[in-house]
Amino acid sequence: MKSPSVIVIGAGVGGIAAAAHLAHSGVHVTVLEKNHRPGGRCDRFIRDGHVFDTGPTLLVMPLLYETEFAALGVSMREALDLQRVDPTYHLVFDDGSGLALTSDLNAMREQLETIEPGSYHGFLRYVEEGCRHYQLATGRLVNHDFRHLTDFVNLRNLPLVYQVKPFAHHYHHMRAYFDDPRLKSAFTFQDVYMGLSPFEAPATFSMMCYTELAHGVWYPRGGMYRVVEALVEIAQEAGVEFEFDAPVERIDVNGTATHGVILEDGRRLAADAVLANADLPHVYQHLLPDEDRAARMDRKRYSCSTVSFFWGVDQVYEQLPPHTLFLADDYRANFDSIIGDLGLPDNPSLYVHAPARLDRSMAPTGQDTLTAIVPVGHLSENGDQDWRAIRDRAREDVFRRLRLLGIDDLQDHIKFEVNYTPLSWRKRYNLVKGATHGLCHNLTQLAYFRPDNRHPRYHNLYFAGASTRPGTGLPTAMVSARLAATRLLEDLGVEAAVAV
Ligand SMILES: Cc1cc2nc3c(=O)[nH]c(=O)nc-3n(C[C@H](O)[C@H](O)[C@H](O)COP(=O)(O)OP(=O)(O)OC[C@H]3O[C@@H](n4cnc5c(N)ncnc54)[C@H](O)[C@@H]3O)c2cc1C
Repeated sequence: MKSPSVIVIGAGVGGIAAAAHLAHSGVHVTVLEKNHRPGGRCDRFIRDGHVFDTGPTLLVMPLLYETEFAALGVSMREALDLQRVDPTYHLVFDDGSGLALTSDLNAMREQLETIEPGSYHGFLRYVEEGCRHYQLATGRLVNHDFRHLTDFVNLRNLPLVYQVKPFAHHYHHMRAYFDDPRLKSAFTFQDVYMGLSPFEAPATFSMMCYTELAHGVWYPRGGMYRVVEALVEIAQEAGVEFEFDAPVERIDVNGTATHGVILEDGRRLAADAVLANADLPHVYQHLLPDEDRAARMDRKRYSCSTVSFFWGVDQVYEQLPPHTLFLADDYRANFDSIIGDLGLPDNPSLYVHAPARLDRSMAPTGQDTLTAIVPVGHLSENGDQDWRAIRDRAREDVFRRLRLLGIDDLQDHIKFEVNYTPLSWRKRYNLVKGATHGLCHNLTQLAYFRPDNRHPRYHNLYFAGASTRPGTGLPTAMVSARLAATRLLEDLGVEAAVAV
């Protein structure tokens, strides 16, 4: 019997992993990717010997990666040459004080007690709560296939309402643990990964701080793009065919089914099912005919974006550790400006990554590779943001903050710069509004309430990736891929190589 065929739109991490799952189960899979290489947001470029990961720089939630690689029949530890990054981040506050987040409890005690006497005890309680949140949320929310409302709203899940504190605002909840505003920001900034301000994010997200300290932040030798390369290898071994420079223009639908896709070059490719890994709002707005649903998608809330700078530098800045976060005193104003005004804060919090500190091969000998990421608002409806001016101001902000570490001559040592604004994110990866994390993760867009992995009308159209369930991040994209592929195989009546 002829094996069923599936077209995957997009070779992001979710698309590659879904393709591999399907191919392992005997499906004929073709991945169509608009760009000329795989990876999507987890992208890389190399210039004059400087290697830049342009998207993710942190391998977090390693236990999820382990499970997902295992579900693809591969050991994560064999696929990736991982090293633990500890301290994870070096935080630098406006007054020049710092905090190195580390799993070394003695070092944590010493630093925390210097900032706020008595806070170490609060820290231990906070991490303990994060542990509870992590276990409940990964088991019952992240790693769960919500097909019906009753899968989510049921007596078993009722205790989650007080167990994972979804209705407590994360930042305000920090009062229970710390008084010093620097510590409140030190343990809530991760919410921005979810596209949320800690002033509105559920306290559930204390799980991020817990997993970073308990399970570690890791770095694959060769950079984060190794995750993509490892997944492509698995997919190709399973028989997946990739076609690059192949943008899809429309999904071919009729009634309640899809029959394949139409590419921008005019080709029509037929398939038994389509799995879209391209950003879900992009699929609704550009690849499908239903204008009402597209309009509803537009009204959803989107995560923030970034202005990112990639610098090849002619000397090494040893005083820069791998991950440095400059956290602004006007923490609340920062989020109000990014999320409320869709702009760049006056004094933005920002992140600098020096990968050569972890892997010398990321820069030529005696030189440095630096990335600076400045969170900004996503693209506005009326296009009134002046991204050139915002970018230039953001660059000055990075230089200014680096002076806190005694770095005052970076401008003189930059050999070349590449920069991205929200316009770049939209153009490169079709991210609606240039929102780097897709739909944000507020309560009405989480778990069951996040767009389903299957289209509500077209019964053989599926979704995997950041804007569908469970949500943003590389390991979650792999979970999403498994959920979508399992559902698709069930619908096709094909036995899955791995069950959910
Ligand atoms: C700056 C930044 C930093 C981040 N940091 C981290 C981090 O440290 N750790 C972490 O875990 N996560 C991080 N993330 C999030 C993570 O990168 C994403 O959640 C994840 O890569 C999303 O994968 P995805 O499967 O949704 O696919 P995407 O990456 O969105 O890929 C979708 C693919 O579809 C293609 N496509 C779109 N439209 C079409 C079309 N019409 N036809 C054909 N192809 C199409 C795109 O080109 C793209 O290749 C970061 C993201 C960004 C942007």
